[in-house]
Amino acid sequence: SLSGTDLHLSFGKNKVLRGVDIHVDAGKTTSVIGPSGSGKSTLLRVLNRLHEPEQGDILIDGRSVLADNPDQLRQRIGMVFQHFNLFPHRTVLDNVALGPRKLRGLSKEQARAAALEQLELVGLRQKAESRPANLSGGQQQRVAIARALAMKPEIMFFDEATSALDPELVKGVLALMADLASTGMSMIVVTHEMGFARTVSDTVVFMDRGVVVETGKPEALFDDPQTDRLQAFLSQVL
Ligand code: ATP
Ligand code: MG
Repeated sequence: SLSGTDLHLSFGKNKVLRGVDIHVDAGKTTSVIGPSGSGKSTLLRVLNRLHEPEQGDILIDGRSVLADNPDQLRQRIGMVFQHFNLFPHRTVLDNVALGPRKLRGLSKEQARAAALEQLELVGLRQKAESRPANLSGGQQQRVAIARALAMKPEIMFFDEATSALDPELVKGVLALMADLASTGMSMIVVTHEMGFARTVSDTVVFMDRGVVVETGKPEALFDDPQTDRLQAFLSQVL
């Protein structure tokens, strides 16, 4: 399990996280929803220590990781962003194999085998020798997911992974994410896709202005919001 407790972070005078608690159990999916600027991306960046929290704690399986080297934590977490940033001059296979080779010390052959296995899993083994530019946006995002998975993370973070995609490509990526969730990957998913949040998540967290306003099971949040803020948000996005 991964927990953030009482997380605080400011940028100058802008208090972006003001005491956020979030938790994901092993093998479960927690989705984070909320308006633009509410601190969702910042929360993910604090949870993998790209920003150090000013207050609060980050725990894996109940043990604080703040005293460890941040790189240790980052190796346990796979990140997928809106913009996939694949290396354009490398093949799909190389894009996926590079991390395991450089950071996990696999041999060229081992890294290649691991990459092919992940590409198979995301349905793109046949594109292994293609360049990213020759793939659709949805396929590129699936390569980015394969690249993160090749590092054998314990938990995956997704930040608006489908927001930059053409509408017809969104479904395939969401289906892959749902597959991952159902096979027992632990995931924190920042998303504007309310259908996904509702059907795939075990827990939904609603953030607004740097605080968690409501959290609970998807049915509870979507069907019976307890606050005006969540009601207003849902009426805008549903
Ligand atoms: P969106 O849905 O638009 O992606 P978000 O919920 O992810 O929004 P954040 O990106 O976490 O919101 O931003 C929260 C606040 O923190 C915003 O006011 C933003 O301007 C500010 N912020 C984020 N990153 C930085 C940074 N590196 N430096 C300064 N301010 C930042
Ligand atoms: Mg964001």
